[in-house]
Amino acid sequence: MAAADAPSNPSSVHGFGRRAKARLEDARARLGAALDTRANGITFTASATEALHLALHSAVASGVSRLIVSAGEHDATLACARRLAASRGVQLDVWGVDAHGVADLAALERMVSDGGDTTLVALMAANNETGVVQPVRDAALIAHTAGARMLVDGVQAVGKIPFSASDTGADYLALSAHKVGGPPGVGVLIAQGEAPVCAQFVGGGQELGRRAGTENVAGICALAAAVDEAVSDLSRMEQLAGWRDALEARIVGARGDVQVIAQHGPRLPNTLSLALPGFKGETQVMAMDLAGFAVSAGSACSSGKVRASHVLTAMGVAEDVADSAIRVSLGWSSVENDVTAFGDAWLQAANRARPLATA
Ligand code: PLP
Repeated sequence: MAAADAPSNPSSVHGFGRRAKARLEDARARLGAALDTRANGITFTASATEALHLALHSAVASGVSRLIVSAGEHDATLACARRLAASRGVQLDVWGVDAHGVADLAALERMVSDGGDTTLVALMAANNETGVVQPVRDAALIAHTAGARMLVDGVQAVGKIPFSASDTGADYLALSAHKVGGPPGVGVLIAQGEAPVCAQFVGGGQELGRRAGTENVAGICALAAAVDEAVSDLSRMEQLAGWRDALEARIVGARGDVQVIAQHGPRLPNTLSLALPGFKGETQVMAMDLAGFAVSAGSACSSGKVRASHVLTAMGVAEDVADSAIRVSLGWSSVENDVTAFGDAWLQAANRARPLATA
């Protein structure tokens, strides 16, 4: 019977509950094995955002008084760190990236040498806007040498590049199901070593008292299966990288005014961030939507105002370039024809919006 056919509360002592509990613990063991980490360090949450918050709050509750957060982190991390700084007096230091979007390890080394044992360092394994892969293992080494703890946001990296929890060296690792082919609404916090997890939600004693609330058993089983499959076979990613590179070469070849963000940086195999100054990101999103493609703009709209992406700004990308950046991601279900059709549609829209001067 599939997990979704038995929607029971795994904390209930009756037979249905015990079977749900068995499925939940099987999923925990499967996920632990897939990511090479101990199962009892795994706490299931409702999103990676929640997992990141749980990690940051746990660190502060257990004595961390300084957060060093990379400038390119997801807003889930940055906003929570800012709130902890405002409400709990935690010192927040934002740590820069280079022009390729890669976190500056020499800067981290300098920053962390001061008061390391009460510090938590946060770095994502791969960036969600640019696809830039970050040196999390080296950062964890630097953090640990100084006595600091390390939080890794692994959301974008799992299933796209070789990935194991133990390899990251993270004390805390956050993941999300829907970025690995699982359902939305399921996340994970993995605590490794001695990293404490201090419950933010209290009530029932679920998840070893680390996160109260009835677990989403079906979603968790789907997450564990999706991660297990995704990490054990990366051959599909090699194919996507080939198609991404061909798409990039075609677009850049057709239009010399296109910029590829982080073109020479270490990137995920499936991600392409393109910019065409003068052709706004949001306009591109709409044009591509009409053509049947879902892409995201680099800029974000908040309170009716479009603001440049903090990720691109941190890389020193000029405002007109950042305004016109979009992110194109190839997925597990993409086929080569989709990629060709996207290239046709994007070039047609770009040529309409920004006609190339004819000689
Ligand atoms: N971190 C990164 C790098 C992400 O890309 C995302 C979502 O896109 C998150 C965190 C937040 O994940 P969730 O939507 O599960 O809260």
